Amino acid sequence: MPTTYGPEVLGPPPRPNDQKLWDPEMQAMDPEKRRRLQDTRLNEMVRRVFENPVALFKRKLTSAGIKGPDDIKGVDDLEHVPLTVKQDLREAEAAVPPFGDYRFTSAHDCVRLGTSTGTTGTPTITLWTRNDIWLEYESAARNWWRMGYRPGMIATHAHPAYLYGGGIMLSGAYEYFGLLNVWVPPPDTDELAEQGLRFWMRVKPDIPFMGFSTGRFFEVANKLGIDPKDAGLEFKSMPGFGMGKGLPLMTAGAECYAYLGSGCGVLPGAHLHEDWAVVQAVDPATGRDVPDGEWGNLTVTTLGRDNGLLRYDLEEACALMREPCSCGETSIRGLWGGRFKDLLSSQGKRFQVTELEGALRALPDVSEPTLEYVVVKPTEEDAPLRVRIEKAPAAEDTDAVRDRCEAAIKERLGIVAAVEVLDRDTLPRSGYKTARVVDA
Ligand SMILES: [Zn+2]
Repeated sequence: MPTTYGPEVLGPPPRPNDQKLWDPEMQAMDPEKRRRLQDTRLNEMVRRVFENPVALFKRKLTSAGIKGPDDIKGVDDLEHVPLTVKQDLREAEAAVPPFGDYRFTSAHDCVRLGTSTGTTGTPTITLWTRNDIWLEYESAARNWWRMGYRPGMIATHAHPAYLYGGGIMLSGAYEYFGLLNVWVPPPDTDELAEQGLRFWMRVKPDIPFMGFSTGRFFEVANKLGIDPKDAGLEFKSMPGFGMGKGLPLMTAGAECYAYLGSGCGVLPGAHLHEDWAVVQAVDPATGRDVPDGEWGNLTVTTLGRDNGLLRYDLEEACALMREPCSCGETSIRGLWGGRFKDLLSSQGKRFQVTELEGALRALPDVSEPTLEYVVVKPTEEDAPLRVRIEKAPAAEDTDAVRDRCEAAIKERLGIVAAVEVLDRDTLPRSGYKTARVVDA
C-alpha cells in the first residue's frame, strides 16, 4: 500500500513491462501458504461478524450452530456456513433501511456508493471504503497485466455512470493502472453511439473494450458508413475465451467482487484471486462443494475487505479446476456457466439464452452487422419456442431466413422454434445490457 503523501497515493509503484505477473508474490504464492492466508483472513472476518456485530451474518452463523469465531478456523469449516443470496440483501435493506443489517462498517466510513442495475427487482446498495476500492483496483491490475495491457496505453469504455457504480469503478481502475481513460456515454441512442465513434476517430483507443455495448457501436458505425477500424474498434477475443466448455469466470458482480480473475491463455478458465476470496462451486441442497469440473452455484466469500460478503451465492453456475498451470500462477481457475434465472426450459430441454444466441450467430442473414433478437419466455413446455429476430439489411427472402433460423435452433438445441423475422431497427436497443428474454 502507498505510504507517501503525494501523487503516488493515486497509483501503484511502477514495475518492468516484461515482468510476467502484476503481483508475483501473491499470484505465484505457494498454494499451501495461500490456504493458510485464507484461513487467517476468514477467521478474522467471522470474528468481526460476532464482535461488531454484523447482524445478518451473525444470525446465519448461529442458526447453523456456530457459536463463535473459533468454530470457523478456516476454509474447511465454510461448508457449515449457510448461504446468503441477493434476496437476503434486498430484504435486509427493506427491513433496516437504507443499508440493511449486513454491513461490516458504518456508511460514514465509506467513500463510494453504487447500486445494482435493478434489472431484476429493487436495486441493492454497495458501499466501498478506500481499502475496498484499492483491493478492486489491484485485482483489476492483475487481470489487465495478464491480458497484455500495459501502463501508457489508451483505454476506452462506455459503462453507465451515476448511481450505477460500474462506470466509475472501471474508470478509476484504468487510471490507477496507468491507462489513459476515455469514458464515452453508453450508446442508448444512435446519437450517443455516434458521439463515441466520432471521438475515437480523433483519439483512437488501444483497448476498445465496450463489453455489452460493443455490438451497438458496430451497428451504428455501419449505419453511418464509418469503418469500425477507423474508430479503433475490432472484435478481439480474450484469453481463456472459447477454450473448454464455458467462459472464464471473471467477475462475481460489483456488489461482491468485480475483478475476481481473468484467463491467462494457457489453460481454460480464469485464474481467481484467492488471496482476496474463497470461491466455491456449491450444491445448494447440501452446502457442500461439487466435484472439480462440475457445475455448482458460484459462491464467494470475500477476504481482506472492510465490507465483505460471507458465503454469497450469486445463483450463477461455475465450475472450478485445480490442475497446475504452466503460466506461473498457482491459483485455481474458474469457468462461468450463466445465471440460473436465465435458464430457459422448453420441450424437455434446459438451455441458456446464450446457447440459442450461439446457434443464430452463425447465420449471416441475421448476424450482420449485429445479432438483434428476443426470445419469449416459454410458459407451455410443449409449445414451439417463440423467437423474434431482425434480418440483415442485405437479406431479402424473409421466409428463407426464418427457415434457416428454425433449422439452426433445431440442430443446436433440439427444439422446435417459431421464428418471426423482422426488419432492422424494430426491436428496442440498449446502451448496456439488452434484455433478450421477454414475457410476451
Ligand atoms: Zn495460467
